[in-house]
Order: sequence, then structure tokens, then C-alpha cells
Amino acid sequence: MLCLILMVMSVNWTTVFSSASEVPSVICESRECVPGDTVTVDVNLINNPGIMYLEITPVYSSELGAPTVRNGSVISDLTMGKQYIWTADNDINANGTLVTLTFTVDESVAPGDYSVGFIFRSAYNYNEASVSFTVIPAIVSVKEKPVPVTGLELDKKAARVETGDETLTLIPIFYPDAATDKNLRWSSSDDSVAAVSGGVVRLLKKGVVTITAETEDGGYTASCIVTISCSHRMGTDYPSEASTCTKHGHAAYTVCGECGEVIDGSDAELPLAEHTGGEAACNKRAVCAACGAEYGDIDSKNHKNIEFRGEKPATAAEAGNINYYFCKDCGKCFSEENCTEEISKESTLIDKLAPEIIEGVGLKVGEGSAAELSFKSNAAFDDFIRVELNGKTLDENSYTVHEGSIVVKLNSEYVASLLAGEYTLGIISVSGTASAVFTVTPNKLSIIGDVNGDGRMDTKDIVRLMKKISGQDVTVTDADINGDGRVDAKDIVRLMKMIAAAD
Ligand SMILES: [Zn+2]
Ligand SMILES: [Zn+2]
Ligand SMILES: [Zn+2]
Repeated sequence: MLCLILMVMSVNWTTVFSSASEVPSVICESRECVPGDTVTVDVNLINNPGIMYLEITPVYSSELGAPTVRNGSVISDLTMGKQYIWTADNDINANGTLVTLTFTVDESVAPGDYSVGFIFRSAYNYNEASVSFTVIPAIVSVKEKPVPVTGLELDKKAARVETGDETLTLIPIFYPDAATDKNLRWSSSDDSVAAVSGGVVRLLKKGVVTITAETEDGGYTASCIVTISCSHRMGTDYPSEASTCTKHGHAAYTVCGECGEVIDGSDAELPLAEHTGGEAACNKRAVCAACGAEYGDIDSKNHKNIEFRGEKPATAAEAGNINYYFCKDCGKCFSEENCTEEISKESTLIDKLAPEIIEGVGLKVGEGSAAELSFKSNAAFDDFIRVELNGKTLDENSYTVHEGSIVVKLNSEYVASLLAGEYTLGIISVSGTASAVFTVTPNKLSIIGDVNGDGRMDTKDIVRLMKKISGQDVTVTDADINGDGRVDAKDIVRLMKMIAAAD
């Protein structure tokens, strides 16, 4: 009882299963082939418990023909006859290839399964104990000999489809039709346009793609060029837009949402509109009210900045002008406010007046006196041309010219060289000649300060001079005692000093 329990407890399920696989076996390896092949069947020994003698009889389908036999590596000594007999001097424990059978399968062998195996006869070990081997035969499966692919076509070489068609199916044509391996690799030249799987082409968008099939057997290829046009199923409408002066407008049109093509109307740019608004003037073009650009031509008749210039009389130094209107923008002159009658700038001018000597008229100088004589013309300094004396041009060394208006000073040396007499000095300027007469008086033995001409210089001369200056009608001689060109109170003072000095 106890023994039974112990036995039960000692049963190990792993051992139970593994003991089944630990059965000493001769295992023949199955193979597949086609007629004409050479098939090698390895015969392996496993779970060898140790043997020095083994005898088995080969059994195989006659269709396979007689094999060639090569001894394996486990037991070196093989004797072959009707039986295969391995012998050794001691127990051989090795597992491995016992023997190899090589069959040449004739072309005429019909496809089917053929067996290769052995009948176990006997085996024993060094102790002459019998050992039993299980033989597991092999199946040599002779398959149909494959028919190779020799060519491939597709049912279409080119196809025209629309995106709305969604799919296109291409059917492969194998040569020969009986070819064994009809597996294909499909590809698209552009998967974004069309993708292919198993000959079914999915149309993704407008474009042209080449769909290619390639046989796995032999690498034969066939292609179909698929042209996909857009079916224009979805349109977006754009209403017409008028041009402005800065932006091109367009007519109404519709764009396909799928391919972006204009499918109705036209999106062609219309010409820009003319600029508008603003006002052209005599010196500038109009400015567009919409875009601020200048455009068009100037308007030579539109004067916006008119100034009235009133009549101004001429002087000797400056020209005058008549009443006129002046455009400050274009510089033109007009005779009236509406600026329809343009007149020349010259025609508005009034010539300068003829000049006159305004200082230095009637000068007198004693003959031989080294006195500078100064004459002033009221002409403009810039208008000065030359000086004449008695109608003849005076040498420039004889005088100097000064600004304001024109002041001509005869040099004292030159004046001293002049003989007694009357001289006419002319200051020639652009607007004419200003003339003055001066006198070089002869030297006489007259007594200086003898105002009343009685041959003496005394207080009576003071009385005569006072009468003259107070405006009484009396005659005086050389009354300009101090020589300042005027007869006045200063001459009385000078005369009184002279008389006092003479006493
Ligand atoms: Zn479209
Ligand atoms: Zn504009
Ligand atoms: Zn103007």
C-alpha cells in the first residue's frame, strides 16, 4: 500500500511525456520535390541507448527508384545487402545521421506522396541485451512541376478616367495562362495621384501615373498609363469685381474645388480704371482722389495763385510797371483777372526815367585848384557805363565811381589841370545821360572876402553878406567864403574870423 502511494507520488508528468519522446527512434526526414529533382532523405538516430549492432530493412516506393546510399556519422561500419547492418566493437551512444538516401526522381513520376522508411529488424548492445527502435518513415512529396511565367500584359495599356470614377481595375494576363506562380507586385509612379493594390487603382486626384505590375516569377512587367482628369464636381463661385485705378477687376467665374481650374467664366484681369478727381493746374497734374497718384496733363489755363500787381511809376534807378496779374505758380503775366489774355513780362514794365545829376550842379573851382569835384546821378549804380566831359569819354584814371546811386569824383589832380571855363560833365548810364555844368574860374587879383566889391575886406562886407543871406536884393562877389558851395551863415562866421585875423 505504502509502496503504491510512493509510486504514485513518484510519477512525474514531465517524465511521462518526455519518456515517450525518449523512445529510441530512426527518423526519416520528409521532403518535397518535383519530377527531375534529386532528393536527399536523411535518416537520423535519436535517443540511442547504446548499441553495437543494428539491422534495418529499407522500404520505399518503387516510383522513386533505387537510392544511392551514403553512411552517416553515427556508426562507421555499414554492410549493405537486402538489410542495412551496422556493427561496432563497443556500444555506440551517439545520435545523428545514420545514413543518407539520395533518390533521382524521374521526370515521368506522377505527382503524389511516396514513402521512404525502414523495417526494424534487431539491435543489441555489448551486453547482448536487445534494444528496440521505432522507425518513423518519411514522405517524399512529388509536386507538379511548376510552369514558369514567360510574359505579362495588362488588359489596358492606357486608361482615361475621372476623379469621380473612384477606382479602375486592371486585369493581368499571364503567359502562359497555366503559369504556376501568378503573384504580382503592383506599383504606382505617384501614390499621391493614384494608388494601386491587387490591380485595383484608387484615383486620388488629377494627374497622369504609370501603374506597373511585376511578376514575382521572372520579374516580367506590364504597365498602364492612367490619365486622371478632374470631374469638376465641386465649384466655388466668384462674383464679378469692377476695376479701380489701383486694382484689376474680373468677370464672374467658378473655380473647381478639387483641381483649382476655372471651370466657368473667366478670372482674366480687366484693365485698371482711370484715375478720378483732383484738379490739374498750370504747374501741376491732377491728384487722383482714390489713390493719390498724379495723372493726366497739366491745365495750362488753370491759374490758382494769382497776384494783382498794381501800377508803379518808374524812377531813374528802377523801372515801373502797369497794372497786371501775375501767376505765382507758372510765372505768367495777364492783363486781366480771368487770366485769358497773357502778356509778356516786358510789356508790363515802364522804362526807367532819364537820370539827372542830383548833387554837384553848378560847382565852381578856381583854376589850378587841387579840389575833388563830386557829382551824383540818380541812376542805378549797376547801370553805370562811363563818364564824358564835354561829350568826350573821360579817361578812367581821371575819376573814381562810387555806389549810391552813382557818385563820380573827379580826381583833384585832374581838376587842377583844367583850364578856366565851363565844363559839361555827363554820367552815362543805361537809361540815359545825367549832365551837370561846372565852372573853373580864372585866377583874378580880387581880394578874398571883398563881398561888396569895393576893393577892401572890412565890416561893410559882413553887412552886405548878411543882407544877401537874409534875402535882400543885393549883389555879392565870391560870397561863398568857406567854399562849401553854399552862401550861408557859416560864411559870415568865416568872414568875421578873417577880418579879425587881418587887424
Ligand atoms: Zn476640377
Ligand atoms: Zn487713382
Ligand atoms: Zn499759372
